Amino acid sequence: MSWVRIGLALVLILLAGLVPLGAQETRPAPWFDGAAALRHVERLVAIGPRPAGSPGAARARAYIVDELRRVGVSARVESFDAATPHGRLPMANVVAALPGRRQDVILIAGHYDTKWFREFAFVGANDGGSSTALLIELARRLRERPHEYTYWVAWFDGEEARETWTSTDSLYGSRHMAGELGKSRRLPSAVIVADMIGDRDLGIRREAASTPWMTDVIWASAARLGYATHFMPDSLAVEDDHAPFMRLGVPAALLIDFDFPPWHTAEDTLDKVSARSLEIVGRVLLDALPGIEDGLTRSRGGRP
Ligand SMILES: [Zn+2]
Repeated sequence: MSWVRIGLALVLILLAGLVPLGAQETRPAPWFDGAAALRHVERLVAIGPRPAGSPGAARARAYIVDELRRVGVSARVESFDAATPHGRLPMANVVAALPGRRQDVILIAGHYDTKWFREFAFVGANDGGSSTALLIELARRLRERPHEYTYWVAWFDGEEARETWTSTDSLYGSRHMAGELGKSRRLPSAVIVADMIGDRDLGIRREAASTPWMTDVIWASAARLGYATHFMPDSLAVEDDHAPFMRLGVPAALLIDFDFPPWHTAEDTLDKVSARSLEIVGRVLLDALPGIEDGLTRSRGGRP
């Protein structure tokens, strides 16, 4: 082979590499530290039960605020009293603000409380722990990369019902925040909620009440990153912390793996959660955010 031919071959190899890149998505796949997120789950589980109004919940809150401070993210604690079947309980949401180039807000949220059980100590590794951990790492990543929208990351208290799930006994933290923001006309442009996303055997279905185009953007990112087996095409309806915002007209999406046999049992322990599942959901969300921003901008007719 002559030098000319070798040169030609090299050019062809380079072109072969460039053509698919030019034709398809060129964004690099985002990085997310699943191992760090799992360490947060470990430490949350070590606190023990964290039901709203308990010393465990206060410790979880302090943990979130401390971990954020360590990576340069400041968060505010928004305290409120909630009327529950167990009387008035002090609760508090934690909210971190990550300013973007514009003031419009995308809220990414989950709950940090665990369900209260009389009969056993419920540590909620997946239900409560996983979303709490995911959001700490997500806030860290959002602080590091530039974004157009302002992001609020919120850890809701009191998602769980004290007794049986009803419209008044559930979603205390998200109802409080949506209510306050609605009153002051400062509702976010969109809401994304994650819940029970640490399941080792990760399988997330489209949530039926969620805003379809937002779910489409997230599922497209999952497919692009090779996670289509974990983000399944069928749907199911789950009421969660996105609901109070949706009722006020805010587009929203819920990511939940509700196919979790240890749900609300003493078996929701650390061994049911994996760093890989946390990493998958973290990467998919980070990948989807620019598309969500685009969708929001387009739905307002391009208004800057
Ligand atoms: Zn739960």
